Amino acid sequence: MTVLDGVRPDRTAEVVAAVAGAEFRTQWDAYRTIVPLDPAASSVTAAVAAIEELGAAGAAPGVCYAMTSQLFGLAHPLRTMLGPERHGLIDGSRVLCHALTEEGGGSDPLSMTTRAEPGPDGTWRLSGRKAFVTAAPVAQTALVFARTAAERTPFSLTAFLVDLAAPGVYRDATFPKTALVEVPMGVLDLDGVVVRPEDVVGGEGSGLAVLTTTTVWERGLLLAYALGPMRRVLDATVAWAREREQFGRRMGTSALVAGRIADMALALHRSQVLVRGMAARFEAGESARGLADAAALTKLSVSQDHLAFAEQAAALGGVRSFVEDTGLTADLLGPAAGLVYAGPNDLLRVSVARGLGLPVEN
Ligand SMILES: Cc1cc2nc3c(=O)[nH]c(=O)nc-3n(C[C@H](O)[C@H](O)[C@H](O)COP(=O)(O)OP(=O)(O)OC[C@H]3O[C@@H](n4cnc5c(N)ncnc54)[C@H](O)[C@@H]3O)c2cc1C
Repeated sequence: MTVLDGVRPDRTAEVVAAVAGAEFRTQWDAYRTIVPLDPAASSVTAAVAAIEELGAAGAAPGVCYAMTSQLFGLAHPLRTMLGPERHGLIDGSRVLCHALTEEGGGSDPLSMTTRAEPGPDGTWRLSGRKAFVTAAPVAQTALVFARTAAERTPFSLTAFLVDLAAPGVYRDATFPKTALVEVPMGVLDLDGVVVRPEDVVGGEGSGLAVLTTTTVWERGLLLAYALGPMRRVLDATVAWAREREQFGRRMGTSALVAGRIADMALALHRSQVLVRGMAARFEAGESARGLADAAALTKLSVSQDHLAFAEQAAALGGVRSFVEDTGLTADLLGPAAGLVYAGPNDLLRVSVARGLGLPVEN
């Protein structure tokens, strides 16, 4: 007997309701009956559409964020880098995490201190601490970036697939978050963890190239998770403005109120067009390298629109925006986190300007 017994498989809203408030893995397993997390199971555009519908049905944003991050930031890009015999790792049956950030260096990956030393028979031994990793406390496998050369060059890093049940992996420390609270965030402490040669992704020294590919996918598509919640908030705000009476008339008769709502619709429309457009380009087979600038611009635009949208909604909801369970409760911290993850927006701006030919450095 599972929580989904009796739920029709085509009913997203029923699935979401059946696991409302459940712990992470229960929601994850239920939601992946709607959004297949195996990159071979559906097209990119179909997956983006399913993620939007899941969010629009009221699914937990943190779980949707983690699923979207796994599907597009890990499974799709890794599918082309791993042999078919390794595809079971990325078919969605396991929770994955992307372990890049360290406490000493977030924006600057080349400052990382986690290191991998070569061992006998082509094995590697990983030691160091990764921090602020989404889903680290609940994941089974991590893509870990580690230093394999001391120098600061584009070839100093290597990416490894690490089984988180392996001896030497510790993940006791967590970071109680204020944004995307339905997915836990934690550390990975690695103490001489042995990694087999077949779990090196892309070859020694190609970590930065692997990271470029995973982040282009993520920047282009991660904010698909925001589209459904934006639709829900827009619908709730329109209904509120139509009904609420102030100054002897309905709130929605004010042109200022209508203008804010039109701005919200514009932010949602622009975000849908951009994310769906990126999905179509990945699906058409365009390379991650060729899509780098478009993905950075998409992440910048959608994350900024998501936050501006949330601010408009919060203003229109009045006090109810700041009271739980009013139907208008605002989430400002989830959208604000979008300014930071998958590449802080100011660093993306710098990279876009560099791509245009400016001699600007990070
Ligand atoms: C919700 C969430 C989920 C995350 N999940 C993961 C995960 O799964 N795996 C993972 O590895 N990491 C994850 N992170 C961490 C994220 O990748 C880092 O927060 C990010 O790389 C920035 O690093 P930092 O926070 O240490 O910021 P810092 O490097 O300390 O920088 C702070 C801010 O200063 C500004 N800044 C710094 N240097 C410059 C510069 N040269 N030019 C312009 N601006 C600059 C930027 O605005 C930046 O946001 C997550 C973060 C969030 C918020």
